[in-house]
Amino acid sequence: MRRRELIGAGMAASAALLATKEAKAQQRVEQAGRGMRSPIIKDINVIQCSPQGVRLVIVKVTTDQAGLYGYGCATFTQRADLIPIAVEKYLKPLLVGKPADRIEDTWQMAYNSSYWRNSGVLNNAISGVDQALWDIKGRQAGLPVYQLLGGKARLAADCYAHASGSEIKEVVDQAKRHIANGFRHVRVQVGVPGMAGYGAGPSKSQRIPALHDAPVFEREGYIKRAMALFEACRTELGMDVELLHDVHERITPTQAVKMCKDVEKFRLFFLEDPVSPEDIAWFRNIRAQCATPLSMGELFNSPHEIVPLIAERLIDYMRMHVSQMGGLTPCRKYAAMGEIFNVRTAWHGPADTSPVGHAANLALDLSCTNFGVQENAFFNDAAHEIFSGLPVTKGGYMYANEAPGWGIEINEAAVAKYPWNQSSPLNGGWGEVRLPDGQIIKQ
Ligand code: MG
Repeated sequence: MRRRELIGAGMAASAALLATKEAKAQQRVEQAGRGMRSPIIKDINVIQCSPQGVRLVIVKVTTDQAGLYGYGCATFTQRADLIPIAVEKYLKPLLVGKPADRIEDTWQMAYNSSYWRNSGVLNNAISGVDQALWDIKGRQAGLPVYQLLGGKARLAADCYAHASGSEIKEVVDQAKRHIANGFRHVRVQVGVPGMAGYGAGPSKSQRIPALHDAPVFEREGYIKRAMALFEACRTELGMDVELLHDVHERITPTQAVKMCKDVEKFRLFFLEDPVSPEDIAWFRNIRAQCATPLSMGELFNSPHEIVPLIAERLIDYMRMHVSQMGGLTPCRKYAAMGEIFNVRTAWHGPADTSPVGHAANLALDLSCTNFGVQENAFFNDAAHEIFSGLPVTKGGYMYANEAPGWGIEINEAAVAKYPWNQSSPLNGGWGEVRLPDGQIIKQ
């Protein structure tokens, strides 16, 4: 055989071998694909209950694969009746029949489908679906969600407990009990004589004469009372415990600048919401004048609010309510952005977050390097009757369930035992707070 013919035969054999290898590789991909067929969203339902006196909304996404479903938190307790409508009338028709394993794609689809976006109601509805899809993906993988996010950056989440009371001594005594139970962080809030102090209820002390019947708040009186509380806490509790305090956006921006400067000496872990979302430009003034650590974000719904605060390093802790921002998918992006700018996380986690929402907070807490602190979750017997697999707090640390997904199951038969209180004033919404002269102020 001539040399040219030999070369030609060799090339043909190589091409045949290559074609065989490619066919086998294609076969392997097809086999793997068949083994991992995307679950399809078959149904989306809303679960409503109130085991702890707060209206909770949870979304359940069911797939076409037997036993594969997930739960997500969609709790916006002050406007709870609007969430089922947003989920069932708008997201369900959009998403049923779509793959359940394309979380990012689904989030973007849901986010953009209303055209106008970033509202509390719409974000909570999206969060319910989003977190349910993360739950489903964890169940598919046989892994807790924090593993899907990269695994543990820490073993448990350091939590803070609330110490509240109408009198300073009550707050100090409650803080002592929390410290004795292992908490290293305590949020302290005290009532103001004659007023409705945030987080502490009305004071037993003498009322300030008012021109109206609404709860009364007087800004300078509150600031003086808070400073007295911090003084007492440092005297009685020492300097080792981390103290937190929530201003709750009730004072003027200029008062906020001064208060942030004045509390420097008490070395707070953070001062929360010194100004309202409408006044976030004032953080530049505060930052320039003191080193008090600042947290902000509980009332945010939009990236336009949190992104500048992170990018300009104007706060120390992002404090958003994960479902109000649209769920785990956007919040893990804000957390990652915060890591770059050294802004840590302190996700909002009181009773108006559902147990599923607390599990989502914890998945971020465990997996993000820039975790700061977690507001502790308290679950009563009724909550345990409905939800199994809840996060557990011991010695001030919150631990995750190691079961797949959130590790939470819902006893849907028990849900009916704890319905929303339909006779509650304002249908679960908040009322008004006024200055002594009758002017409305922020809550
Ligand atoms: Mg707050």
